[in-house]
Amino acid sequence: MSARKKAIAVLCSGGDSSGMNSTIRSVVRTAIAEDLDVYGIYKGYTGLINKDAQLMDLSSVGNIIQRGGTILHSSRCPEFHQAEYRAKAAEFLRELNVIGLVVIGGNGSFNGAYQLQKEQGIPVACIPGTIDNDISGTDVSIGFDTALHTAVEAIDKIRDTATSHDRTFLVEVMGRSSGMIAITVAICTGAEAVIFPDRQTDLTEVANVIERGKQRGKKSSIIIVAEGEKEGLGYVYQKDLLDSHKIETKLCILGHIQRGGNPSPVDRFLGAKMGNMAVRGIIEGQKSCVTVKRNGQFMLAPLEDCLEKRNTFDPSLVELLNTLAQ
Ligand code: ADP
Repeated sequence: MSARKKAIAVLCSGGDSSGMNSTIRSVVRTAIAEDLDVYGIYKGYTGLINKDAQLMDLSSVGNIIQRGGTILHSSRCPEFHQAEYRAKAAEFLRELNVIGLVVIGGNGSFNGAYQLQKEQGIPVACIPGTIDNDISGTDVSIGFDTALHTAVEAIDKIRDTATSHDRTFLVEVMGRSSGMIAITVAICTGAEAVIFPDRQTDLTEVANVIERGKQRGKKSSIIIVAEGEKEGLGYVYQKDLLDSHKIETKLCILGHIQRGGNPSPVDRFLGAKMGNMAVRGIIEGQKSCVTVKRNGQFMLAPLEDCLEKRNTFDPSLVELLNTLAQ
């Protein structure tokens, strides 16, 4: 049997985000251009453990750049927290003659890649793919821009109804431990206030903003609620506003529509650029790196820079919202 060609492997892990397909396409086509084989691993780290891989060719990533989700599927893989399963994954990668693994995902996925590299010596190149934009060491992540577009479009529609019926809406947006989507869409939709569950927002202040608006003739109010770690917080605020402040609201939870959908040009471009950089990084001998964008510049950063969640709470953005919503 002839020896296997050197190869790159690529997987998506954790929550999906729009632009992952553009990234996979870029990884596959860059690797092929560099005369490497490229294996797509299905369902994240689960696929490494279960040996679920497919040799990709140019056509296997045709006509996917405009599609949301990921053609490789994604998963959460509890086993990967254990060293014995990471050893199994490394064994499979060595069988495939892989010179480096590209991991598209968020902080959790990066931590898995870090462990794999440290323990097993498999070179890893990570690409930030999460709608939350909360990875330390990079200003941007793939999927955030598309999520913003989706949320803003939805809230513009809610505003039409809110105005037609003189109503106040609470709109819950995604981002469990990150309020980045919430504050950005609040500013972009002209929302009156934003509630961050983990920051114990003062509901009296929110009620005052709504009342002030009414007094100066506003026909509607939109309050953005950042999804918390616990489900259903929107209902708690809705009840509190009614019981304690006599303010009746309608609640709309945007939920998973914010994850999928056709990626925006920004996210397609990030995928194309970062997929290419990741493969080049591996070829150049990087052992554990992340493709990042900092101050407008794309670069490869050490994986250690990106293992934590970024503190996305920016008081100056809240101040901006308050100024514009007065
Ligand atoms: P995200 O990558 O979007 O942050 P998760 O936090 O759910 O998503 O992580 C995705 C997967 O990465 C986990 O299901 C697990 O397989 C792996 N992972 C997360 N943290 C670690 C860790 N500390 N060690 C090993 N693997 C990890």
